[in-house]
Amino acid sequence: MSVQSVLDELRGIPGTGETIPIVDPVTEEQITEFTDCGPEAIDAAVSRAKETAESRVWSGVPDYDRARVLWKIADLIDENADLLADLESVNAGIPASQAKVITRVGSEWFRYYAGWCTKIDGIARDVNTGGLTGVESHMHAYTLREPYDVVGLIFPWNGPVFNYCAKLAPALAAGSSTVVKPAEETPLSALVLTRILHEAGIPEGVVNLVNGYGHTAGAQITAHPDVDKVAFTGSTEVGREIVRASAASNLNKVTLELGGKSPVLIFDDADLDMAIAMAGFGCFLHSGQVCMLGSRIFAQRGVYERVVAGIATIADNLQLGGPKDEGVMIGPLISERQLNRVMGYLDQGRADGAELVTGGHRLDRKGYFVHPTVATNVDPATSRLFQEEIFGPVVTILPFDDEDEAIALANDTAYGLAGTVWTQNLGRAHRLAKRLKAGTVGLNCQLQFDHSMPFGGYKQSGWGYESGKAGIDTYLQSKTVWAQM
Ligand code: NAD
Repeated sequence: MSVQSVLDELRGIPGTGETIPIVDPVTEEQITEFTDCGPEAIDAAVSRAKETAESRVWSGVPDYDRARVLWKIADLIDENADLLADLESVNAGIPASQAKVITRVGSEWFRYYAGWCTKIDGIARDVNTGGLTGVESHMHAYTLREPYDVVGLIFPWNGPVFNYCAKLAPALAAGSSTVVKPAEETPLSALVLTRILHEAGIPEGVVNLVNGYGHTAGAQITAHPDVDKVAFTGSTEVGREIVRASAASNLNKVTLELGGKSPVLIFDDADLDMAIAMAGFGCFLHSGQVCMLGSRIFAQRGVYERVVAGIATIADNLQLGGPKDEGVMIGPLISERQLNRVMGYLDQGRADGAELVTGGHRLDRKGYFVHPTVATNVDPATSRLFQEEIFGPVVTILPFDDEDEAIALANDTAYGLAGTVWTQNLGRAHRLAKRLKAGTVGLNCQLQFDHSMPFGGYKQSGWGYESGKAGIDTYLQSKTVWAQM
């Protein structure tokens, strides 16, 4: 398969809704288009998923065989890594070297969760109890861990291969049937990945790929009475809509991986060169379109000026460009809509009195490129630049005097996805790890992730976890069985 054949395949998929263009964010040119699948297709996808769940064509496959299929999927993803990376680049503008890393991380989701297929177990106890009857007798009690029948998987455009694999691997390890909707901006890699799943042995009807807008296809999945669980990654705003849809429909279980506005605390005893280098990369990676980036930096007063100057230098030296350009480190924003959103925040920041030390403008070339931007002099109480997730290459930097002030500033946000502390004082590092209200904390490191460790958000950054044991637990329900002995 080639990129062109995937573009053609997408164009040929029938649908009954609106036509949706796919635009290369580097050239601003339309590369293909597709049709929103429409309501009948969502109904049909949910019905197919329900039928396969009820007939146990996947959940009934012995654990070891399910594990083998997941492992095979991982191998096939690796075999198709070049194509998947190319699709990631052409669709989301991700630099080729980073797209390859993401694809490798994608296949490892399946290897990691292949191992869990044989480790889904509950507890067993012999109990002498009468329960509420008051007549004591010998009982054997045990728990069964069972998959949800139909799971809706909905995810964003910022890492299409990563997000597809992060959701499908645990859902399939658990034994669920699924309806999968990628973001309308980035439907390409999901076509290849779904084909790989079937080639590896996932029975037809277990994974049902649908394409369309969030407010049409996505909303219909979340409100569908036969969908038992929705696993969503995306904005906090849409996360709320998903919870509302669940409440108004069948109270399907919801897990949410949402937005972030993560703090990075740099103390004057930190390894400053390392802290500045990592904090600079850790706020501008993928043009700021990564949920866990450290988009609010706080520097202790003694090193504040050096931190601002250092991050501004990084911002000015990061090479932006197309995926295959020589030495490129950062690609464009995903769309014109996202570009307008980021520029709107920058205009608002200027109007509010923020000082833009560098950046603040669009690059003078084709493509949705914004110069990495460093903003200071923002008021934490009122500044939207400081408070809201921009999802663009914009960082605010503020000074602090001591630990208490640093923590107060860091936690002064509705989000709680991640946080970082740079200090060589070991006691302080661990003390602040406890005080940061965030689901992931880095001590003298940023952007760390592994499939074996849970990832999730405090506060309005999410419900539930992805990866690790916690990641498969969210796809399993627990049933307690009592047996009279
Ligand atoms: P988004 O919320 O606009 O869209 C995400 C997905 O939801 C898309 O597939 C979209 O079509 C769908 N959708 C939109 N409206 C819907 C509705 N009413 N019902 C059902 N589905 C709907 O997010 P985005 O702009 O695509 O992605 C950026 C956001 O994703 C950022 O907020 C970022 O922080 C977040 N994100 C979070 C994580 C995490 O792990 N916490 C990871 C990646 C991205």
